[in-house]
Formats: sequence, C-alpha cells, structure tokens
Amino acid sequence: MAPQIRRLHLASLQGLDGARWPVHGFVVTHPGGAVLVDTGVGGPQHVLDDWRVVNRSVADALADLNMSPADIGLVINTHLHFDHCGQNAVFRHAPFYVQRAELDRMRRESAELYDWFGFMNARFELLDGDAEIVPGLEVIATPGHTAGHQCVLARGGNGAFDLLIGDAAYTPRQYAEPASERLPAGQASDVPAWRDSVRRIHALRPERVHFCHHTDIVHS
Ligand SMILES: [Zn+2]
Repeated sequence: MAPQIRRLHLASLQGLDGARWPVHGFVVTHPGGAVLVDTGVGGPQHVLDDWRVVNRSVADALADLNMSPADIGLVINTHLHFDHCGQNAVFRHAPFYVQRAELDRMRRESAELYDWFGFMNARFELLDGDAEIVPGLEVIATPGHTAGHQCVLARGGNGAFDLLIGDAAYTPRQYAEPASERLPAGQASDVPAWRDSVRRIHALRPERVHFCHHTDIVHS
C-alpha cells in the first residue's frame, strides 16, 4: 500500500523577505503506523517575536486529521531549525530521526536552541546519510540549507515517489532554478553543496514535491 501524505498547517511567520510564509509539517501514514515529518514552531519567546510567528499547536493541527500526538510512532526532522523541530517535546514517546551532522551543527551553532529544546533527553536515531526508515519511506541527505539537512521520500507501489523537500528549497522557484545567483536570505548556508543537493533531487525525478514554506505542489 502506498503511503498516504497529509499536510499540516502549523504556523505562519515573517520571512527574511518581509512576506508571510506558511510553515507546514506532514503526516505520512503507512501500513505500520504514522510518521510526522517536522513538528512546527517553538523556541524562546524572543525568537518567536523576531519572526512574528502566528503559531498553532501541533496537537491542534493533528486533531484536524482526527489524530493525536500519541498516534505518531516516529518523527523525522528535516533539520533542526526552530520552525521544524520546535514542538518535538510533544512527542517524547517517539524517536527522532535526524542526521548526525545536523545535531552536531545545532550543538555548535545554536547553543541556545539546543538547550531550550532539552535535546539531551530526546531519543535520537542519528543517521549518517541516506537511510530507509520504514518500508517505502526513506531519507536522503541533502546538505546545503544546513550541514545536516535531509529530505523524505515516500514511495508508491509503481516506483514513483513523493518528495518532502524540507528547506532544501523554500519555494518552487528555488527548486526549479538551482543555478540562480539570487537566493533568498537563509536558503543556503553552503551554496555549492545546496546546488548539488537540488540537482540530486532533480535527477531522482520525484513525481510530486511538497514544500514546508510554500503551498504549491510541484508535479513532474
Ligand atoms: Zn524553515
């Protein structure tokens, strides 16, 4: 059975370009249970103020799907920015699948957030590159936005797959134009690595691409 993907609206925030951006997470239901990809916004109040966050609790967003946090068996964080792992603490019963390089980056670069999220007590499953998480659901390492960014790939029965791109591209435009010289602020911490990652995603030919900060779905 092909995994079913449902999008959550978790928040909106003011992007570095001054526009309002949505924040989406995704529930992927597979025969063995439900996986949550990214948990939404959280963090110290000054961070939420800086980004003008209008927040929702992830539990409320799940209730729209007639689900509760207890229904989530495992969490995948595409990366450890405050708008993607901010409500991880709601899922203390679940393991968090994260790239080891990303947890290292957060510890190094964002000590305040690292401490705020209480990551010492979280149950991490640390990944080193591409990995199958459950049958039909994989992560691929896509460094560039952050050092340990990963995307999620959900395979249908016919070999086609959906890609949850995380912040490997903020919008369909960045996804379509990896060579563009004009990247939005924050899109890439390492531009050559970011371009390589977007090109790698193109080469995989996903049937549909779902974004965290844009509501359009790119079909190919
Ligand atoms: Zn983001």
